[in-house]
Amino acid sequence: MTVPISREKEDELTRNTKSEKCCFCRAGTPFWTALPDRKLGQQVACCPHCASRANPKDIPSKAAWCRSEDIAHIPSYGEIAQGHDKNYPPAPIVPIKEEA
Ligand SMILES: [Zn+2]
Repeated sequence: MTVPISREKEDELTRNTKSEKCCFCRAGTPFWTALPDRKLGQQVACCPHCASRANPKDIPSKAAWCRSEDIAHIPSYGEIAQGHDKNYPPAPIVPIKEEA
C-alpha cells in the first residue's frame, strides 16, 4: 500500500517551495502526506520515494516527527554560541577565579 501525498504550493513571490525533511529519509521535499484521517496541521513531510513504499500506518504522528527532528537536528555554531540549541540548555558561564 502507498501513502497519498500532495505537493506544497509554491510561493507566488519567490517561485520557491519550502522544503521540509521527509519523515523517513530526511531528504528535502515539497511533498506532504494527504492522509484522509488527519487534519491539515497533522500531516508530515514525505517524499514520493518513501510514500511509494510506506503504508499509512508507518507515518509518524506530527508530534513524533517533530521530536525526531529535534533529536536529529545538528545545531550550527551560531545556535550553540547564542544558546539557541533546542536540545541542550546553554552551559553556565562563570568568571575565571583569580589565584590568591
Ligand atoms: Zn523520503
